[in-house]
Amino acid sequence: MTTKLLSGNDCRETFLRFFEKHGHTRVRSSSLVPLGDPTLLFTNAGMNQFKNTFLGLEQRPYTRATTSQKCVRAGGKHNDLENVGFTNRHHTFFEMLGNFSFGEYFKKEAIAFAWELVTSPDWYGVPKDRLYATIFKGEESVPRDVDAYNYWLATGVPASRIFELGIKENFWAMGDTGPCGPCSELHYDMGPAASDDGHADCKFPCDCGRYVEIWNLVFMQFNRDSGGTLNPLPKPCVDTGMGLERIAATVLNLSDPAKFSNYDSDLFQPLIRHAEELTGAKYGSGTRADASLRIIADHARASTFLISDGVLPSNEGRGYVLRKIMRRALRHAHLLKPGVAVLTEMIPQVQKLMSAAYPELGQSSQIIRIVAEEQDRFRRVLESSLEKLEDDLRPLAALAGTPQAKDAVYPGEKAFKLYDTYGLPRDFIEDSCRDLRVRFDTAGFERAMEEQRTRAKASWKGAHKQVASPVYTKLAAAFRTEPDFYFESAARDCRIEAIVTKGEAANEIKAGDEAEVVLDRTAIYAESGGQVADVGRFYDNGESLELAEVRGAYYPVAGLIAHKIVAKETLGVGDRIATVADGERRAHIKRNHTATHLMHAALRNVLGTHVKQAGSLVAPDHLRFDFSHFRNVDPAELREIEQQVNDQILSNQEISTDILPLDEALASGALAFFGDRYPESNVRVVTISDRHSSRGFYSKELCGGTHVKRTGDIGLFKLVTEQSVASGVRRVQAITGVPALEQYQTLKRIVGNLAATLNIGEDKVEARVAELSEQLAELQKKLRQEQSKAALSQVDDLAAQARTVKDVRVLSARVTGADRESLRQLVDALRQKLGSGVVVLGAADDGKVSLISGVTKDLTARLHAGKIVQALAKQVGGSGGGRPDLAEAGGKDTNSLDKAMGGVYEIVEQML
Ligand code: ATP
Ligand code: MG
Repeated sequence: MTTKLLSGNDCRETFLRFFEKHGHTRVRSSSLVPLGDPTLLFTNAGMNQFKNTFLGLEQRPYTRATTSQKCVRAGGKHNDLENVGFTNRHHTFFEMLGNFSFGEYFKKEAIAFAWELVTSPDWYGVPKDRLYATIFKGEESVPRDVDAYNYWLATGVPASRIFELGIKENFWAMGDTGPCGPCSELHYDMGPAASDDGHADCKFPCDCGRYVEIWNLVFMQFNRDSGGTLNPLPKPCVDTGMGLERIAATVLNLSDPAKFSNYDSDLFQPLIRHAEELTGAKYGSGTRADASLRIIADHARASTFLISDGVLPSNEGRGYVLRKIMRRALRHAHLLKPGVAVLTEMIPQVQKLMSAAYPELGQSSQIIRIVAEEQDRFRRVLESSLEKLEDDLRPLAALAGTPQAKDAVYPGEKAFKLYDTYGLPRDFIEDSCRDLRVRFDTAGFERAMEEQRTRAKASWKGAHKQVASPVYTKLAAAFRTEPDFYFESAARDCRIEAIVTKGEAANEIKAGDEAEVVLDRTAIYAESGGQVADVGRFYDNGESLELAEVRGAYYPVAGLIAHKIVAKETLGVGDRIATVADGERRAHIKRNHTATHLMHAALRNVLGTHVKQAGSLVAPDHLRFDFSHFRNVDPAELREIEQQVNDQILSNQEISTDILPLDEALASGALAFFGDRYPESNVRVVTISDRHSSRGFYSKELCGGTHVKRTGDIGLFKLVTEQSVASGVRRVQAITGVPALEQYQTLKRIVGNLAATLNIGEDKVEARVAELSEQLAELQKKLRQEQSKAALSQVDDLAAQARTVKDVRVLSARVTGADRESLRQLVDALRQKLGSGVVVLGAADDGKVSLISGVTKDLTARLHAGKIVQALAKQVGGSGGGRPDLAEAGGKDTNSLDKAMGGVYEIVEQML
């Protein structure tokens, strides 16, 4: 038995320490956003970050590793979202503890390690008679895992406790082809109290909840080819996964049999307590409130971790899943206590609980801001879509109790639309239907949902296309391209390792051919980390004969650079050539890259350390930088940022590069963009020194790009735009060096010309232009006043032109020099003058027709001003309308105005 109860944090540390003691390197969890793998929605297992290592595409400086990996299973292949809240052992976000062997130890050691860690009183101390092991029984022509069976026996597990399961449970495969192999699992008996079905005496493997899978050991020993044949791997590997929350619950259950849920552990209890306080609900009452509280606690963790890894709520892809998780939590909070702002209150608790193990969560208020915005948006959704739902349901509800009651069905398609586009939860819709005795069309809803799923899957599949040509994956197993672009823009004696045309390997290409070429080393920078690729040329080693034009370069797989070229001479595998990057273009790029680092630091100094890189482009002519920040950056802040960067340029600071282990780099204060996957060794750290700073540097970042030697090389830095790109993300663009100077020269010329035109000094231009536009506005105002005066002076003349139609005085006239406002005044004046009658005025100005019509109050029962202008407007290609006593219209056909005005008398006559 364990002597003391291990906390959740202890359980994590115990696992990692155990495997460190057995020669494993402790490796940091990778991001929940698997950037290197477009085929995966979220990181969902410890092995994800090692996928290329298992495939032999990536070398690591160790052959044994152990991790505690952040995982989310809320979309894609593994989706536990709907389970969460209703089982004791599923979460959307959880931590997977794992040990990995890359072609080193295999089943014997893996099984012995697992048994010792779980059962030894020095470690987890789980009694052996509470455990079951499973092995692969052999199925579909894949042989039974005899070795695993024997090793479990040898480790001390009685035969009666070893169970044999089939392909579905105990065989693992990376994909349709590739590495695969049998699994062994360890299950723990939580005792009869844990049975969801109230079983008092069921036997393993009953799936009532009593027996919990805690650990899965995967033995990768085959490679499945496209024909389906399993070929033994030369170096079999081990990949294991243990749910931290499940082992924590297991350890807890040993000391208290009434506790058998992951949610009872101290990884969740503080969160559930807090949710209770917020909602007034009580946990443990066995009602629906329990599930809601579990969901709130679970989803608060998932939201915090996803947002801290750079996912933002949105309507597609990862952001959509995050939004679903957040809204599910909010919906359950709403059930417990309408109106409670639960998530914003939960996030700081998650940060407090978890940031010792995951420092990237930090204390930042940025996550809370993003959550607050989503919470707010959801509240508005509820308000607006509930209204829409009620509109839909009202006519159906009216059928209840009538002979058509059976037609009171809310179509699933319509319901799904509210659910999908407005984000209105299905529960809400179903509840409302129930209340109003309207049937909810479940089948139609599910059909619409299924269609949507198929569409989503199809669009996610698009990512598969990015998988590299097999030529590259094979090549990458053997070697990597040596980057020679950090110090020079030319390198000689580069060997052609492979030529690829149309996805196929070739031995030789001729002048005029387009191809991709892999070299053992190169001076051409390949696009990465936001920095665009170099362009350049291949020469013979003497650099006298041009062999190819290089249009770009990229990494088809990690470590391998492919040059996109057009051959000028025959090139063959094995040739030794010189690579020369376009040096001037490179110099521009370097200035922009170093300036990006300076600006990143300045942004954090001026706006705060919540500023995190969200995207970056370093091109020759400009730089672009996206970062998290919640409001616009005001002009004073922009000026200060620009000033700081230029101060650093003027003090000509030195830039240095060190290659350090990741942990050391982070400990030295280097900024890392956590969305990225950094290799475990050899991270490059770019430091811009600062003699005046107590830290000794102005900026320190992990970066694989190229930089100037001293900040003075940048010359000049100028911000050009600042704008919003997404909620909580701002974008700035800037220019440096020559383009910045050119922009200055252009603006200087414009100002010079203005000054010459105005015949004043350049420093007076700004004030003078302001003065002139003020004067212009003043003059325009005066002009308008004069115009209306002139218009009003025509009142007597115009009134004299009125005719009598039947018994009504009617005046129709075209006037000049009157804008809309003076037309209105004129109509008023004429109505007064006539006392009783109809006035219609038209004017043409600047190709546009204005019409206005007024009817004195005593006649509005017989004549409608709006109808009169409507009839007129048609004749001048326009439209309009208004009140019975006053109406206006516009038109385009100035040539027809006179004719239209002449027809007014007839129109009025007809209307009378
Ligand atoms: P289950 O059948 O219980 O859903 P699984 O077969 O999906 O588990 P694996 O893919 O083998 O699990 O993952 C390895 C380990 O990760 C499991 O043994 C379990 O301890 C843990 N685990 C898996 N899914 C979850 C989840 N949704 N929440 C918490 N822990 C999980
Ligand atoms: Mg399993």
